[in-house]
Amino acid sequence: MNWKIIVKSPENLLTERLYQECKEDLSREAEHRCIYCCIHESRFGGIRNFHVEHYKPKSKYDKLKNTYSNLFYSCSICNCFKGNDWPNDPDDVYEKPFYPDPLIVNYSDYMMVDYETGFVEGLRKTTKYVVEKLYLNRPQLVNERKFFGLMEKMRLNYQLLENIELRMSNASQEERIRVMDLFIKATSAMREISQLQIKLQTVNPYTIVQVRR
Ligand SMILES: [Zn+2]
Repeated sequence: MNWKIIVKSPENLLTERLYQECKEDLSREAEHRCIYCCIHESRFGGIRNFHVEHYKPKSKYDKLKNTYSNLFYSCSICNCFKGNDWPNDPDDVYEKPFYPDPLIVNYSDYMMVDYETGFVEGLRKTTKYVVEKLYLNRPQLVNERKFFGLMEKMRLNYQLLENIELRMSNASQEERIRVMDLFIKATSAMREISQLQIKLQTVNPYTIVQVRR
């Protein structure tokens, strides 16, 4: 679940059209993830649950309403939390609240994700503001990050377990113990993943109170 700089195709930047018609292209350019929380559309209701995000809000920058460079792809929740918010224009200092421009800044450079706890922390004043304002530690996202961390852990353990048969046939007692330990860790990660999957189906991404805050 890493952010990336969004690269827009020159053709899309030059084509004039209404913002409502741009969603599929924006989705593709964002690799089908929300630019703010990184959730993949397959994990959150598909493209219909995602919005065309006006980076500079259309209520304040009407002229940019259909300007492709101002349009991005975000999940409905981040889009709802951001609303018309535009506290400051971006600068190079990152010590006041603003939304970094996804065309220029990789949010990963200013965020710290803990895949054990699932929490994300803004490393500068600007990204601390984004985390707080868009509520990027909402339960669904915390679980998604934990899930991602466990998947990665399991992948690494399985990688080490490859050729286990061959390794076991020639293994010393010490090596056998080590391989068994990896096997236990991999199955334990699998157990945690299945428990998280069940939890993900029952966790509300936000409550009414949080939406209204
Ligand atoms: Zn989002």
